[in-house]
Amino acid sequence: MIDLKADLHCHTTFSDGKGTPEQCIDRAGRIGLDVLAITDHRTAEGGLRYWHEQPSNGVVVIPGEEIRTDEGHILAYFVKRTIEDCTLEEAAAKVREQGGLLYATHLYHPTFRRHIWGESRQTFLDQELALVDGIEARNGMTISRCNRDAVAYAQAHPGLGLIGGSDAHFAWDIGGAWTMIQSEGRSLDEIRSAMADHRTCALGPTRINRLLFRWVYYAAGFCRNLDREKRRRFHSARPHRRRRRLS
Ligand SMILES: [Zn+2]
Ligand SMILES: [Zn+2]
Repeated sequence: MIDLKADLHCHTTFSDGKGTPEQCIDRAGRIGLDVLAITDHRTAEGGLRYWHEQPSNGVVVIPGEEIRTDEGHILAYFVKRTIEDCTLEEAAAKVREQGGLLYATHLYHPTFRRHIWGESRQTFLDQELALVDGIEARNGMTISRCNRDAVAYAQAHPGLGLIGGSDAHFAWDIGGAWTMIQSEGRSLDEIRSAMADHRTCALGPTRINRLLFRWVYYAAGFCRNLDREKRRRFHSARPHRRRRRLS
């Protein structure tokens, strides 16, 4: 068995990230990551080519996607084609059909999850999490309280795999949270088996000053670089709720 350090959540120029896949992979190699999953919003295109050829710097790239479902964002790994917006049940069926794995991301995030407040919260979580392989217990863009709640949920529900990821939208932010994977080797098959067997743990403390710095940087970056359309396409948390026009 070997321990692999993996960032399982990042965005590239294929969605609303600012780094190309190559820049992100290069950064991952320079900071000592063994594995990087490319999980763009609503498209798997950023990582699909790595099914055929892995990068030369030794980083293993997992093709993935952050799928937008009406119950929130879901991370899918080892996908072979893009999965369009759908319900969580449909997403689970499509990912399974492709042989992929599924994780609920930023579980208690105040803006990117639905139904997290009020009575329906627990029922919703239980229903949702029956469909996934595990949860992202460390998300680099989420305050530690939310990450702690996710860990507590996982502890109360053994049988869920735990992963961590930076949710980086800039190459420099890769590695802000990570997953240790105990794998038999460095091939995609071996890493997939390790994740399916829950031989993973989530790491990466969110320090509030780093988080604040990130949020300011991100806000400035997005204001400068993202037009309204791109922001709406990739960052709206509630895809199926129509906006009312005032006029
Ligand atoms: Zn998300
Ligand atoms: Zn994300």
